[in-house]
Amino acid sequence: MSFDLEAGLAARRAAGLYRERRIAQSPQSPLRKFPGGELLTFCSNDYLGLANHPAVGAALVRGAQQWGVGAGASHLLAGHTAAHHALEEELADAVGRPRALLFSTGYMANQGVLGALLDRRSAVYSDQLNHASLIDAARLCQARVSVYRHGDARHLAEQLAADGAPRRLVITDGVFSMDGDLAPLVELATLARQSKAWLMVDDAHGFGVLGPGGAGSVAQAGLDGDAVPVLMGTLGKALGCFGAFVAGSEALIETLIQHARSYIYTTALPPALAEATRAALRLARAESWRREKVQALVARFRAGAGQLGLPLLESTTPIQPLIAGSAQRALAWSAHLERRGLLVPAVRPPTVPEGTARLRIVLTAAHEEAQVDRLLDALAGLPDWA
Ligand SMILES: *Cc1c(COP(=O)(O)O)cnc(C)c1O
Repeated sequence: MSFDLEAGLAARRAAGLYRERRIAQSPQSPLRKFPGGELLTFCSNDYLGLANHPAVGAALVRGAQQWGVGAGASHLLAGHTAAHHALEEELADAVGRPRALLFSTGYMANQGVLGALLDRRSAVYSDQLNHASLIDAARLCQARVSVYRHGDARHLAEQLAADGAPRRLVITDGVFSMDGDLAPLVELATLARQSKAWLMVDDAHGFGVLGPGGAGSVAQAGLDGDAVPVLMGTLGKALGCFGAFVAGSEALIETLIQHARSYIYTTALPPALAEATRAALRLARAESWRREKVQALVARFRAGAGQLGLPLLESTTPIQPLIAGSAQRALAWSAHLERRGLLVPAVRPPTVPEGTARLRIVLTAAHEEAQVDRLLDALAGLPDWA
């Protein structure tokens, strides 16, 4: 393979797979300014509308006044502050686990956990539609990887029965990031327990949104720390901030502090950001109207889409994908919406499987009913969807 990068880029463009960044000129919010004008957006993971909340911004400013900007070092050297520590305790409390550990990103949290817990003698069982960060983490830790069919506990059971590795970890998204559906957590937890495997749930899209107080998909399923020993959540989605955490037992967190390379060999998050996240977490836990509002908008959207006969995936979460099939068709749909002032980007392979390019429509608590209706009106006129 030569370094003819231009040819590679041209081929990608020809296949309708070229990705381009759009330059936002105003903060995260449903109505946003872009160079071409204002667009009504349905594509952020800011599910509770906290990314641009004044109290969260004020906490960031106060945090910067108190702590300055950079943490200055990794957590194990001198980067771990009282702000980080308080946030960890509050996150552990929010998900009902003894402890939590902050990571710089969800991508790094997944890598850190698998690397710390598994090695080449271990086995990982991974849902076919898991997030790329779990897939990459599984590759990097060198464990044997078995991919089970999406949401298929029976297929997982067959794979568990066929393998007797000393450490076995089942990994799944709680809410699947591109489909919006829920993993069958109760079944997975039962299987894992029967097989003496551990279950790890990546709840990037469930934490803050689902379950009592926004504790997430695992709490919504009624599962505790014995059923789900490793719980990962992110802070850049429903909390509107940045970063991630892993929650679990005392021994799990101490093991991660000793062995998780993506925790040890990186600079701690800015402490001001930890203060902002504490403010966002308080709002997310206390203001359940945000969860109720986004769920009501989801119900309104699904009822309207049902009347139009739109091919929505089965999803009860704020992620409401509309399958187009080919990348070109998804791009045409997205362009159609943009001409009507709406931003819903096309999600294409390799982010989703071949032939399932889609509009990933996302609703948030910051949207209004009239905006959902505007989306439905525009979707009614989509070319060629039937
Ligand atoms: C976004 C996401 C991640 C990565 O989290 P970051 O903090 O953005 O790195 C991990 N897992 C899932 C399922 C995600 O959707």
